[in-house]
Amino acid sequence: MILYYYAKTKSRQSKLMTPGMELRTEILSVRRSNVSNARNKELFSRGNNDEGPLAAPTASSSIGRASSLFKRHNVTSSFSACLKQQDPSQNHAYGEHLEYVTVFDDEDEYDAARSTWNHAKLHLQFPNIIAFPASAEEVSLVVKCTRLSGQYICARNGKHSFESDTCTYGVVVDVSKMKQITTLDGRLEGKESPVVRLGAGLTLGQVAVEVVKLGLVVPMGSCATVGLTGLTLVGGQGPLSRLYGMLSDYVSAIELIDERAQIVLATASNEYADYLWLARGGGSGTHHFPGIITAIELSGLPSSESSSSDTKSYIDFRIEYNPTVENAVQMLSDWQKLHMDPKYINDPLFNRITMEPWIFVDAAKKGYGWKKKVFLTVYFYGTAKHRSDFRSRYMPMLKIIFTGTTKAKITNWQYHTSIGFQRYLAGVKSNKKLASGKHGWNINDRWKGYSAVVSKAVSNKAFRILAEGILESQPMSKRYVELKPLGGEIKKMDKSETAFSHRDALWWSLTNHFFPDDINMTSTHADSIRTESRRHHQSFVDAMGGSFSGYYAGYIDRGSSNTLHPSRRELELYYGGNARRIKSIKTKRDPQNLFRVYIPEALSHSVKQGSVALSGAVQAEY
Ligand SMILES: Cc1cc2nc3c(=O)[nH]c(=O)nc-3n(C[C@H](O)[C@H](O)[C@H](O)COP(=O)(O)OP(=O)(O)OC[C@H]3O[C@@H](n4cnc5c(N)ncnc54)[C@H](O)[C@@H]3O)c2cc1C
Repeated sequence: MILYYYAKTKSRQSKLMTPGMELRTEILSVRRSNVSNARNKELFSRGNNDEGPLAAPTASSSIGRASSLFKRHNVTSSFSACLKQQDPSQNHAYGEHLEYVTVFDDEDEYDAARSTWNHAKLHLQFPNIIAFPASAEEVSLVVKCTRLSGQYICARNGKHSFESDTCTYGVVVDVSKMKQITTLDGRLEGKESPVVRLGAGLTLGQVAVEVVKLGLVVPMGSCATVGLTGLTLVGGQGPLSRLYGMLSDYVSAIELIDERAQIVLATASNEYADYLWLARGGGSGTHHFPGIITAIELSGLPSSESSSSDTKSYIDFRIEYNPTVENAVQMLSDWQKLHMDPKYINDPLFNRITMEPWIFVDAAKKGYGWKKKVFLTVYFYGTAKHRSDFRSRYMPMLKIIFTGTTKAKITNWQYHTSIGFQRYLAGVKSNKKLASGKHGWNINDRWKGYSAVVSKAVSNKAFRILAEGILESQPMSKRYVELKPLGGEIKKMDKSETAFSHRDALWWSLTNHFFPDDINMTSTHADSIRTESRRHHQSFVDAMGGSFSGYYAGYIDRGSSNTLHPSRRELELYYGGNARRIKSIKTKRDPQNLFRVYIPEALSHSVKQGSVALSGAVQAEY
């Protein structure tokens, strides 16, 4: 296990420290010999009796610069002391050996370790400790020492949270080293497909590469670098969701470390069933899951419909419009009508089609002007018979609806194998790259995103506000909106069966406003982008009236109403009728709110205001 400890580097120290203070960055590498799981579980659960109460937070706005730095030093020291105390080499009964290596003052490694995908809050992200455990037992040790050193803890997987939700001043547990994939033959009884056990640290690209080899399909998101666990915790929607449902619909068990540092397997029928229910779409966003998930079991996964790995069962193409507001409104309106027409939505073949409208603007890199685009991406998945039916039954109709009046053009028609489709979505050429945790798109790394979930038809007036806010804006960077069709298989599960509640939704939108590359995130310019983007989104939501039914936790917006402490109404917007149960499980399983983002009070105030102007006291936390 590798642990990065926070400390000032020399340049930062010289600005903030009083003379004579000395802090250091330690990278502590712990190597562990193999010990059987059963043995470890027994030993670790036995070691759980000496828990003390969670100590006070590590920093607050009221403490002065020097004392705050000393506090950080104290908590990391006591964390480190705890680890050493638990060192199995001190206790031969464990039969293990831990080796510590200490490295000083490596700012680059710390910076790389603390970065999340969205850099918009990087200036607020300075965890005390970042741990990279390789097993459930190591996670248990970290949870235990976090408690004993009086800190807060949160997990991260693919680092794609829209609000950098692993940005904490406490302990971050990065599960990315936990990537094992096994099929559990012993539990096949009564199942049509094997139970697949996946390490919590996998990204979607890594899952795709491995699961295709098993001849199975995992209905998951479209971005290869998103984390499997993070996606499960919000529900998990993607190009196959209308055909097969949400990713979290297939989760049959999870392994986690609870607040007492115990390793727990939660299934639908044991005493930990509430953890499993919560993890299926209600486990992150407005709050943190009450534990660290170390493995996820999927069952009932559909078999691949490709007769061989060379079969090109995916079709994709675009319908491209002249990028005007009129055309954008027409596209959205036609697309929405299609997804409400009983003639189509009751046809199983229609669930194999996924159409996603996009409206996009980007400031030209050189010179003056903006690149604008209005288009529909269309994906189809199925056997040779399905593909032939799609071409004969749906293509003529799609041409009439979408290209008839607007003169839009069909472009980019392609066929893909299963894994080829995943590579295409990720913008990479090889499976190695797909599994690397990176993708091929050049994506700006700082943005503010918003979602809107819709259950009834939206008026053209609202679509116009949406389209104008993109196409008639003159941003210094990029902004876009994409709409995702829902319904189909997603709708078939009861709303209370899992924590994911948007079962009746027609579609949801995701609007992203990007910050220019060279912007200072604490400037008034950055603030004006935040304010303007929120105003645009709010006017879209207001224009939708009763058609608006909430937000998607996957595109969490902590917003101007600080959802670090969400009200009941805010929770209901994300989780509908499941909000109350979600809250009660979190309170019961994590009574001291150990698993959370911890941002010092004054900083959380700044986040609340959407502003990052820092007071003197807050700067002391850096
Ligand atoms: C570029 C991009 C594309 C996206 N595409 C899609 C899409 O196609 N479909 C869709 O539904 N969503 C999509 N999302 C949203 C995404 O699913 C959510 O943001 C998701 O929560 C990210 O998970 P992560 O593991 O990558 O992020 P992280 O930031 O690592 O984690 C997200 C949340 O999950 C918690 N968490 C992570 N691991 C654990 C663990 N082991 N135990 C307990 N809690 C844990 C974190 O604490 C945090 O609260 C996309 C996001 C981005 C940025």
